[in-house]
Amino acid sequence: MKQDISQDAVAASTDTQIVIAPHNERYITPEVRKRLPELREKAHWVYHRLMEHYGEPTWRAHRPPLDELIITTLAQNSTDRNALKAFRTLKERFPTWEDVLRARPEEVIDAVRSAGLANQKGPRIQAILRKLKEEQGDFDLSFLERMSTEEAEAWLTGIKGIGHKTASILLLFNFQRPTFPVDTHVSRVSKRLGMAPPRASTRQIRAIWETVVPPEWYYPLHLNLIRHGREVCKARTPLCDQCVLQERCDTYQGIRRWENA
Ligand code: SF4
Repeated sequence: MKQDISQDAVAASTDTQIVIAPHNERYITPEVRKRLPELREKAHWVYHRLMEHYGEPTWRAHRPPLDELIITTLAQNSTDRNALKAFRTLKERFPTWEDVLRARPEEVIDAVRSAGLANQKGPRIQAILRKLKEEQGDFDLSFLERMSTEEAEAWLTGIKGIGHKTASILLLFNFQRPTFPVDTHVSRVSKRLGMAPPRASTRQIRAIWETVVPPEWYYPLHLNLIRHGREVCKARTPLCDQCVLQERCDTYQGIRRWENA
């Protein structure tokens, strides 16, 4: 296991003032706020260590934004595999988005059944399409390009069932906007490392990462944390003896950083 990340690299990248973006202000608690300098230093170490270990993730070609939004919606509380299966069935049964919108709700529910929670996801998909059709006249999400990141996120989260995670995935992956999606893997690894309090919400964890690392790191760090969570810091049995983060991991080191949080 490599131990020699350049301290110069970490120090150089943490040598500026910490700025909390207005949209993150209310998610940074006083306890987190006072620890921001140490969290930033640790975050930069984690970033470099994961980059050293996994390398720079390649920017994958993404599907059209609306496809991505529907798939992300289907993937909520499900696996990527089942979400994609449901998406393919949906597309086979309904060749156009107009067809999905006009279909009877039970037909859409039946088409997405393999993703689970179909009774919620079917109507949710039709609600997305209805909002687009009513407000934009078509099924094209490219108007989000012309909005600020906050406006685009507000538009997306204004749809019932679309939370900040789905919105930030779409905005980061399809529109290259500076958002840091926090899924179950990122949340678990962040808490075990001590980057966030044990009871932090995913929105709070997102606010911490967005505050302590520069925007150009969001994409590679997000993907490397997910990979680390899937392959090493697994939910039930973390493989700590194979982990490149163990020397700074609060859980592994038995550090209780967040006693007052
Ligand atoms: S040392 Fe263990 S708990 Fe900590 S990040 Fe690594 S795998 Fe997860």
